[in-house]
Amino acid sequence: MAVIEAGTLYVVATPIGNLADLSPRAREVLAGVAAICAEDTRHTRQLLVAFGLDRPLLALHEHNEGEIAGRIVERLRAGDALALVSDAGTPLVSDPGYRLVREARMAGVKVSPVPGACAAIAALSVAGIPSDRFCFEGFLPAKPGARRERLQALARETRTLVFYESSHRIEESLADFVSVFGAAREAVLARELSKLFETVLGDTLGEVARRVGADPNQRKGEFVLIVRGCENDAAAVLAEGQRLYAKLVEHMKPSQAAKLAADLTGASRKALYGETGQGQE
Ligand code: SAM
Repeated sequence: MAVIEAGTLYVVATPIGNLADLSPRAREVLAGVAAICAEDTRHTRQLLVAFGLDRPLLALHEHNEGEIAGRIVERLRAGDALALVSDAGTPLVSDPGYRLVREARMAGVKVSPVPGACAAIAALSVAGIPSDRFCFEGFLPAKPGARRERLQALARETRTLVFYESSHRIEESLADFVSVFGAAREAVLARELSKLFETVLGDTLGEVARRVGADPNQRKGEFVLIVRGCENDAAAVLAEGQRLYAKLVEHMKPSQAAKLAADLTGASRKALYGETGQGQE
Protein backbone atom coordinates (compact mmCIF):
# COMPACT_ATOMS: atom_id res chain seq x y z
CA MET A 1 0.00 0.00 0.00
CA ALA A 2 1.41 3.42 -0.96
CA VAL A 3 2.31 5.59 2.00
CA ILE A 4 0.57 8.95 1.76
CA GLU A 5 2.68 11.71 3.29
CA ALA A 6 0.88 14.57 5.02
CA GLY A 7 1.17 17.99 3.37
CA THR A 8 2.25 16.57 0.00
CA LEU A 9 0.88 17.46 -3.42
CA TYR A 10 0.82 14.29 -5.57
CA VAL A 11 0.82 14.97 -9.33
CA VAL A 12 -0.91 11.87 -10.65
CA ALA A 13 -0.93 10.67 -14.29
CA THR A 14 -4.22 9.11 -15.43
CA PRO A 15 -4.93 6.99 -18.56
CA ILE A 16 -5.01 8.53 -22.08
CA GLY A 17 -7.69 6.07 -23.20
CA ASN A 18 -7.28 2.63 -21.71
CA LEU A 19 -8.40 2.57 -18.07
CA ALA A 20 -6.13 -0.37 -17.34
CA ASP A 21 -3.22 2.06 -17.68
CA LEU A 22 -3.95 3.66 -14.30
CA SER A 23 -1.10 2.38 -12.15
CA PRO A 24 -1.78 0.57 -8.86
CA ARG A 25 0.12 3.32 -7.03
CA ALA A 26 -1.94 6.05 -8.75
CA ARG A 27 -5.08 4.31 -7.53
CA GLU A 28 -3.78 4.04 -3.98
CA VAL A 29 -2.74 7.69 -3.90
CA LEU A 30 -6.11 8.82 -5.28
CA ALA A 31 -7.83 6.68 -2.64
CA GLY A 32 -5.70 8.04 0.20
CA VAL A 33 -5.54 11.84 -0.31
CA ALA A 34 -7.88 14.30 1.42
CA ALA A 35 -9.07 15.73 -1.93
CA ILE A 36 -8.26 15.68 -5.65
CA CYS A 37 -7.75 18.82 -7.75
CA ALA A 38 -9.25 17.98 -11.15
CA GLU A 39 -9.45 19.80 -14.48
CA ASP A 40 -13.04 18.63 -15.08
CA THR A 41 -14.64 17.24 -11.93
CA ARG A 42 -17.35 15.31 -13.85
CA HIS A 43 -14.71 13.57 -15.94
CA THR A 44 -12.58 12.67 -12.91
CA ARG A 45 -15.69 11.53 -10.99
CA GLN A 46 -16.24 8.93 -13.75
CA LEU A 47 -12.65 7.72 -13.39
CA LEU A 48 -13.04 7.41 -9.61
CA VAL A 49 -16.34 5.53 -9.97
CA ALA A 50 -14.70 3.13 -12.45
CA PHE A 51 -12.15 2.30 -9.74
CA GLY A 52 -14.63 2.21 -6.88
CA LEU A 53 -13.18 5.38 -5.30
CA ASP A 54 -14.93 8.32 -3.72
CA ARG A 55 -12.90 11.42 -2.79
CA PRO A 56 -13.83 15.12 -2.64
CA LEU A 57 -12.99 16.94 -5.89
CA LEU A 58 -11.80 20.54 -6.31
CA ALA A 59 -12.12 22.12 -9.77
CA LEU A 60 -8.77 23.45 -10.96
CA HIS A 61 -8.67 24.56 -14.60
CA GLU A 62 -6.94 27.22 -16.67
CA HIS A 63 -9.61 29.85 -15.84
CA ASN A 64 -9.45 29.58 -12.03
CA GLU A 65 -5.98 28.18 -11.32
CA GLY A 66 -4.38 31.57 -10.62
CA GLU A 67 -7.19 32.42 -8.23
CA ILE A 68 -7.42 29.19 -6.20
CA ALA A 69 -3.81 27.95 -6.21
CA GLY A 70 -3.06 29.99 -3.06
CA ARG A 71 -5.96 28.42 -1.12
CA ILE A 72 -4.89 24.91 -2.14
CA VAL A 73 -1.33 25.62 -1.00
CA GLU A 74 -2.73 26.75 2.37
CA ARG A 75 -4.48 23.38 2.76
CA LEU A 76 -1.23 21.60 1.93
CA ARG A 77 0.67 23.72 4.47
CA ALA A 78 -1.96 22.85 7.05
CA GLY A 79 -1.10 19.16 6.52
CA ASP A 80 -3.61 17.83 3.97
CA ALA A 81 -2.25 15.47 1.32
CA LEU A 82 -3.81 16.39 -2.04
CA ALA A 83 -3.64 15.03 -5.58
CA LEU A 84 -3.63 16.88 -8.89
CA VAL A 85 -4.98 15.16 -12.00
CA SER A 86 -5.98 16.37 -15.47
CA ASP A 87 -8.58 14.89 -17.84
CA ALA A 88 -6.04 12.51 -19.37
CA GLY A 89 -2.37 11.68 -19.14
CA THR A 90 0.22 13.66 -17.21
CA PRO A 91 -0.88 16.97 -15.62
CA LEU A 92 1.02 20.10 -16.77
CA VAL A 93 1.75 18.53 -20.21
CA SER A 94 -0.51 20.79 -22.34
CA ASP A 95 -2.76 20.75 -19.26
CA PRO A 96 -3.32 22.94 -16.17
CA GLY A 97 -1.30 22.66 -12.98
CA TYR A 98 1.89 24.63 -13.57
CA ARG A 99 0.84 27.57 -11.38
CA LEU A 100 -0.26 25.34 -8.51
CA VAL A 101 2.94 23.28 -8.62
CA ARG A 102 5.03 26.44 -8.75
CA GLU A 103 3.24 28.07 -5.82
CA ALA A 104 3.44 24.86 -3.79
CA ARG A 105 7.18 24.53 -4.40
CA MET A 106 7.76 28.18 -3.59
CA ALA A 107 5.91 27.68 -0.30
CA GLY A 108 8.19 24.75 0.56
CA VAL A 109 5.47 22.14 0.03
CA LYS A 110 6.63 18.72 -1.16
CA VAL A 111 5.42 17.96 -4.71
CA SER A 112 5.71 14.32 -5.73
CA PRO A 113 4.97 12.75 -9.14
CA VAL A 114 3.01 9.54 -9.65
CA PRO A 115 4.16 8.83 -13.22
CA GLY A 116 2.08 7.19 -15.92
CA ALA A 117 0.64 7.76 -19.38
CA CYS A 118 1.61 10.72 -21.54
CA ALA A 119 0.46 10.85 -25.19
CA ALA A 120 3.66 12.52 -26.41
CA ILE A 121 5.91 9.85 -24.90
CA ALA A 122 3.60 7.00 -25.95
CA ALA A 123 3.69 8.26 -29.56
CA LEU A 124 7.45 8.73 -29.50
CA SER A 125 7.85 5.17 -28.23
CA VAL A 126 6.18 3.70 -31.34
CA ALA A 127 7.22 6.19 -34.07
CA GLY A 128 10.64 4.76 -34.92
CA ILE A 129 11.97 8.31 -35.37
CA PRO A 130 15.14 9.28 -33.47
CA SER A 131 14.10 9.89 -29.87
CA ASP A 132 17.41 10.60 -28.14
CA ARG A 133 16.78 14.36 -28.47
CA PHE A 134 13.31 15.76 -29.00
CA CYS A 135 11.41 18.95 -28.66
CA PHE A 136 7.82 19.01 -27.34
CA GLU A 137 5.81 21.71 -29.13
CA GLY A 138 2.31 20.78 -27.91
CA PHE A 139 -0.55 22.46 -29.79
CA LEU A 140 0.20 24.79 -32.70
CA PRO A 141 -1.62 28.15 -32.79
CA ALA A 142 -5.23 27.85 -34.04
CA LYS A 143 -4.96 30.75 -36.51
CA PRO A 144 -3.47 29.77 -39.88
CA GLY A 145 -1.03 32.72 -40.10
CA ALA A 146 0.36 32.19 -36.60
CA ARG A 147 0.52 28.43 -37.18
CA ARG A 148 2.59 28.76 -40.35
CA GLU A 149 4.87 31.29 -38.67
CA ARG A 150 5.50 28.83 -35.80
CA LEU A 151 6.24 26.05 -38.29
CA GLN A 152 8.60 28.28 -40.27
CA ALA A 153 10.49 29.06 -37.07
CA LEU A 154 10.84 25.28 -36.48
CA ALA A 155 11.76 24.26 -40.03
CA ARG A 156 15.51 24.08 -39.30
CA GLU A 157 15.21 22.45 -35.87
CA THR A 158 17.40 19.35 -35.92
CA ARG A 159 15.74 17.57 -32.96
CA THR A 160 12.65 15.39 -33.45
CA LEU A 161 9.50 17.50 -33.02
CA VAL A 162 6.39 16.40 -31.11
CA PHE A 163 3.01 18.09 -31.69
CA TYR A 164 -0.51 17.60 -30.32
CA GLU A 165 -3.48 18.11 -32.63
CA SER A 166 -7.25 17.80 -32.45
CA SER A 167 -9.65 16.33 -35.00
CA HIS A 168 -10.97 19.83 -35.95
CA ARG A 169 -7.65 20.97 -37.36
CA ILE A 170 -5.71 17.86 -38.29
CA GLU A 171 -6.26 18.20 -42.04
CA GLU A 172 -5.38 21.89 -42.32
CA SER A 173 -2.41 21.51 -39.98
CA LEU A 174 -1.01 18.64 -42.04
CA ALA A 175 -1.33 20.77 -45.19
CA ASP A 176 0.73 23.49 -43.46
CA PHE A 177 3.33 20.94 -42.32
CA VAL A 178 3.71 19.74 -45.93
CA SER A 179 4.01 23.24 -47.32
CA VAL A 180 6.56 24.44 -44.73
CA PHE A 181 8.63 21.28 -44.02
CA GLY A 182 8.19 19.62 -47.44
CA ALA A 183 6.28 16.44 -48.30
CA ALA A 184 9.39 14.25 -48.02
CA ARG A 185 10.08 14.99 -44.30
CA GLU A 186 9.81 11.80 -42.23
CA ALA A 187 6.77 11.85 -39.91
CA VAL A 188 4.46 9.56 -37.97
CA LEU A 189 0.88 10.32 -36.92
CA ALA A 190 -0.27 8.45 -33.79
CA ARG A 191 -4.05 8.46 -33.33
CA GLU A 192 -6.23 7.21 -30.47
CA LEU A 193 -3.32 5.60 -28.63
CA SER A 194 -4.32 2.78 -26.27
CA LYS A 195 -7.94 2.97 -27.55
CA LEU A 196 -10.02 0.78 -29.86
CA PHE A 197 -9.16 2.62 -33.08
CA GLU A 198 -5.47 3.16 -32.40
CA THR A 199 -3.52 3.82 -35.63
CA VAL A 200 0.09 4.74 -36.23
CA LEU A 201 0.64 6.12 -39.75
CA GLY A 202 3.93 6.93 -41.43
CA ASP A 203 6.33 7.47 -43.06
CA THR A 204 6.48 10.99 -44.58
CA LEU A 205 4.40 14.15 -44.09
CA GLY A 206 3.12 13.82 -47.67
CA GLU A 207 1.99 10.24 -47.07
CA VAL A 208 0.38 11.06 -43.70
CA ALA A 209 -1.52 14.02 -45.23
CA ARG A 210 -2.65 11.84 -48.15
CA ARG A 211 -3.94 9.03 -45.89
CA VAL A 212 -5.76 11.44 -43.55
CA GLY A 213 -7.27 13.33 -46.53
CA ALA A 214 -8.45 10.09 -48.15
CA ASP A 215 -10.14 8.51 -45.11
CA PRO A 216 -12.61 10.44 -42.87
CA ASN A 217 -12.07 7.85 -40.11
CA GLN A 218 -8.41 8.91 -39.92
CA ARG A 219 -9.56 12.43 -39.03
CA LYS A 220 -11.42 11.30 -35.89
CA GLY A 221 -10.07 11.22 -32.36
CA GLU A 222 -6.89 12.53 -30.78
CA PHE A 223 -3.51 12.88 -32.46
CA VAL A 224 0.18 13.18 -31.81
CA LEU A 225 2.38 14.07 -34.79
CA ILE A 226 6.06 13.19 -34.60
CA VAL A 227 8.25 14.91 -37.20
CA ARG A 228 11.90 14.11 -37.78
CA GLY A 229 14.20 17.08 -37.28
CA CYS A 230 15.90 18.83 -40.18
CA GLU A 231 18.55 16.29 -41.08
CA ASN A 232 21.31 17.85 -43.12
CA ASP A 233 22.62 21.08 -44.52
CA ALA A 234 20.83 20.64 -47.85
CA ALA A 235 17.49 20.21 -46.07
CA ALA A 236 18.26 23.16 -43.79
CA VAL A 237 19.14 25.37 -46.79
CA LEU A 238 15.94 24.33 -48.57
CA ALA A 239 13.87 25.05 -45.44
CA GLU A 240 15.44 28.50 -45.12
CA GLY A 241 14.84 29.14 -48.85
CA GLN A 242 11.19 28.15 -48.42
CA ARG A 243 10.81 30.38 -45.38
CA LEU A 244 12.19 33.37 -47.28
CA TYR A 245 10.21 32.55 -50.41
CA ALA A 246 6.96 32.51 -48.41
CA LYS A 247 7.70 36.06 -47.14
CA LEU A 248 8.88 37.44 -50.49
CA VAL A 249 6.02 36.03 -52.53
CA GLU A 250 3.62 38.30 -50.64
CA HIS A 251 5.32 41.27 -52.33
CA MET A 252 6.43 40.05 -55.78
CA LYS A 253 5.81 37.47 -58.50
CA PRO A 254 6.50 33.85 -57.49
CA SER A 255 9.27 33.52 -60.10
CA GLN A 256 11.05 36.65 -58.78
CA ALA A 257 10.55 35.55 -55.17
CA ALA A 258 12.01 32.11 -55.95
CA LYS A 259 15.04 33.62 -57.70
CA LEU A 260 15.73 36.07 -54.87
CA ALA A 261 15.23 33.45 -52.13
CA ALA A 262 17.52 31.05 -54.06
CA ASP A 263 20.22 33.72 -54.49
CA LEU A 264 20.11 34.69 -50.81
CA THR A 265 20.05 31.20 -49.30
CA GLY A 266 21.74 28.97 -51.86
CA ALA A 267 18.59 26.80 -52.19
CA SER A 268 17.70 25.55 -55.65
CA ARG A 269 15.36 27.99 -57.42
CA LYS A 270 13.60 25.07 -59.07
CA ALA A 271 13.05 23.28 -55.75
CA LEU A 272 11.56 26.43 -54.20
CA TYR A 273 9.35 27.25 -57.13
CA GLY A 274 8.13 23.68 -57.58
CA GLU A 275 7.91 22.40 -53.98
CA THR A 276 5.86 25.30 -52.69
CA GLY A 277 3.21 24.44 -55.28
CA GLN A 278 2.99 28.08 -56.36
CA GLY A 279 4.89 27.80 -59.61
CA GLN A 280 2.03 29.19 -61.68
CA GLU A 281 1.79 32.93 -62.14
N1 SAM B 1 -1.69 15.73 -20.48
C1 SAM B 1 -1.94 14.93 -21.66
C2 SAM B 1 -0.76 13.97 -21.89
O1 SAM B 1 -0.05 13.66 -20.93
O2 SAM B 1 -0.55 13.53 -23.01
C3 SAM B 1 -2.23 15.78 -22.87
C4 SAM B 1 -3.42 16.67 -22.71
S1 SAM B 1 -3.80 17.62 -24.11
C5 SAM B 1 -5.04 18.69 -23.52
C6 SAM B 1 -4.75 16.52 -25.09
C7 SAM B 1 -4.03 16.16 -26.40
O3 SAM B 1 -3.13 15.08 -26.16
C8 SAM B 1 -4.99 15.66 -27.48
O4 SAM B 1 -5.57 16.72 -28.22
C9 SAM B 1 -4.04 14.84 -28.34
O5 SAM B 1 -3.27 15.68 -29.17
C10 SAM B 1 -3.12 14.21 -27.27
N2 SAM B 1 -3.68 12.93 -26.84
C11 SAM B 1 -4.29 12.64 -25.66
N3 SAM B 1 -4.65 11.36 -25.62
C12 SAM B 1 -4.29 10.80 -26.79
C13 SAM B 1 -4.39 9.50 -27.36
N4 SAM B 1 -4.97 8.51 -26.70
N5 SAM B 1 -3.88 9.28 -28.59
C14 SAM B 1 -3.27 10.28 -29.27
N6 SAM B 1 -3.15 11.54 -28.79
C15 SAM B 1 -3.65 11.80 -27.57
